[in-house]
Amino acid sequence: MKIWARIAIEWKLRDEQNRAGVFNMHMDLKRIKQGFIRLIRIYPLIAIGLLIIAYLLGGFSEQSNPLVPRTIVLGMLYGLIIVVPLLAILIFVGFSVSEDRSRNRNLKSLENLPAEDPFDLAQEEMCGFKIVSLTGELPIFTGVTGDTYKNDENAICKEFPDHVPPVIGCECGFYAFKNRRDAQFELSIHPGLFLIDVDLFGIGFSHKYGYRAESQRVNSLEFPKRCMRCKVLPARVFIKSYKIGYGNNVWWHWSVRCSLCVKGVKPENRLTIEQMSQKLNVEIN
Ligand SMILES: [Zn+2]
Ligand SMILES: [Zn+2]
Repeated sequence: MKIWARIAIEWKLRDEQNRAGVFNMHMDLKRIKQGFIRLIRIYPLIAIGLLIIAYLLGGFSEQSNPLVPRTIVLGMLYGLIIVVPLLAILIFVGFSVSEDRSRNRNLKSLENLPAEDPFDLAQEEMCGFKIVSLTGELPIFTGVTGDTYKNDENAICKEFPDHVPPVIGCECGFYAFKNRRDAQFELSIHPGLFLIDVDLFGIGFSHKYGYRAESQRVNSLEFPKRCMRCKVLPARVFIKSYKIGYGNNVWWHWSVRCSLCVKGVKPENRLTIEQMSQKLNVEIN
């Protein structure tokens, strides 16, 4: 039910309208970066494929006149082992430099934000997606920054307790992606986490890809398709396990298992989907 009134400050950069060509390319950096990371994941397959082709064409044989000359094979090996990884590193450095620039530009544009009448702000429904882990003996949502929250909460600023998040120039507030696809991509980088669907309320900043807002309600949690242990069979049940972190810090961590991998887990460390749904007070689907 989307019946809540929400207020969002539209955070648009002047550059976005004026320098369409340059800026669009810049704003789509996130998409380009996602594509690049996908490519890097399959790079070992591409490399092995090329080596197999070179081998089949006789590039590694002792023949005096192979189909693929030895110099080409050697060049390819150097390329695969040295040049391509170096290029990848340079591209990542490029990404981080331009992300820093974009962050500075955002901050600058925020300084120029006129003191607006809070009752005259643009209204926008803030529905988003994000990834969380489930931790604690009694399961609780844990954001990627380590902050824990229940299904319905107001954000608090750890750094400046007098802040009512979100505050301009600070990082406080609840974050969410606007697009499910972006949250799914993050999930593919962080296996073992869960994807949730949230509504954000109160004052919020609207970015191109997401929101940062005052309060948050979790609507639903997406039950992972596959077991987090064997990664093959369909997941059936939630289980909690002990994790030992830095400085002997021990915490409970929740994951999902298939009916095979759940064998051996004590009954008191298991929760069915319905039980988890009740504990978290959100739908699981
Ligand atoms: Zn703050
Ligand atoms: Zn399994």
